[in-house]
Amino acid sequence: MTEHIGTTCVQGGYRPGDAEPRQIPIYQSTTWKYDTSEHMGKLFDLDEAGYFYTRLQNPTNDYVAAKIAELEGGTAGMLTSSGQAANFFAVFNIAGAGDHVVASSAIYGGSYNLLAHTMRRMGLECTFVSPDCTDEELERAFRPNTKCVFGETIANPALDVLDIERFAAAAHAHGVPLIVDNTFPTPVMCRPIEWGADIVTHSTTKYMDGHGTAVGGAIVDSGNFDWDAHADKFPGLTTPDETYHGVVYTEKFGQAGAYITKATSQLMRDLGSIQSPQHAFYLNLGLESLHVRMPQHVKNGQAVAEYLSQHPKIRFVKYPGLEGDPWHELAQKYMPNGTCGVVSFGFNGGRAAAEQFMKSLKLAQIATHVADARTCVLHPANATHRQMNDAELEAAGIAPDMVRLSCGIETTEDLIADIEQALETV
Ligand SMILES: *Cc1c(COP(=O)(O)O)cnc(C)c1O
Repeated sequence: MTEHIGTTCVQGGYRPGDAEPRQIPIYQSTTWKYDTSEHMGKLFDLDEAGYFYTRLQNPTNDYVAAKIAELEGGTAGMLTSSGQAANFFAVFNIAGAGDHVVASSAIYGGSYNLLAHTMRRMGLECTFVSPDCTDEELERAFRPNTKCVFGETIANPALDVLDIERFAAAAHAHGVPLIVDNTFPTPVMCRPIEWGADIVTHSTTKYMDGHGTAVGGAIVDSGNFDWDAHADKFPGLTTPDETYHGVVYTEKFGQAGAYITKATSQLMRDLGSIQSPQHAFYLNLGLESLHVRMPQHVKNGQAVAEYLSQHPKIRFVKYPGLEGDPWHELAQKYMPNGTCGVVSFGFNGGRAAAEQFMKSLKLAQIATHVADARTCVLHPANATHRQMNDAELEAAGIAPDMVRLSCGIETTEDLIADIEQALETV
């Protein structure tokens, strides 16, 4: 019997045995005790699986990570303290000083800063390409030292759609994996691994948690990338790790487990960035209803986008689910059941109209957040991109009058009514 995604949302990852807790227990313990020092030694050599310190692994986190891996159709997963940590680990696990990354330019601001500035300070260079670049432009971005390609299924906040198959084919032609941040569609709307992505990341802070309670991240490995076939590019996975008595990750844990085991045992050990078991528990509560919430987010996003696109005071609407949107065709291919609940739009009355609209909203609340059960709204020119003047904003592709509305799961009619009354004051 093939399990459907909704069943995995509810029951995946944790399947209790006889007389065990039905809900995932929170292992609120930093440490584990052992009867013999020899036993512990085996854990430290990665000779035996087991828990000893929560910075490396905790059962609560592992159950929830296993659920997310099942949802994405991957072979292994891990949780991180945030989406930022997930994307950093996903790249840094296979690329370091002297290496190079190709990334879509349509990505989250935090990921852009990470790749363009912070990782550059660590000696790693990144070439950005537009998600609608030509094949020649994409080809030209690669270098002999390129170690991965990075993009977002639906970009936050640009709402561009990544042509996953095309980017995967280019990555694989150069012997490197494609990493896709799948935060906005979630696996309920799109499963990038089915289209050729090798590694999937998430800011679980968004739809997965869904209730604005816990910052977190996740990484899932498809198990499809053959590290040994490109051993010269990925020595960290294919040659002995002296910090673990010379273990070779691909040899010991196979293609299905090497990447996540290395990220856990090396990066978590040295850099920390764990998700707390308490947060993992909250995250799991969110996951249990993800398949029920996403269709309502999408329904509201679609209805709001269609309403706004007909409104005389609205200058433009960006929403990949909207017919006529430049990304509509790709959205239909990769997300036939809908995209997400986030809609961006601008006003004929310019920036002042945007500000007036925002303050007149009653149900939608101003917050630096997206993908929450409660509808929230942000004016990037006044918040996340505040340091830029109007000319700089235009250059960054953020119109000064652009508002980003993240539709929650309230009743559609009430959301539209709120937008309608706010637009009347503009
Ligand atoms: C929010 C977000 C991140 C960063 O996640 P945090 O949990 O805030 O660290 C990364 N990618 C995307 C697409 C996001 O929306």
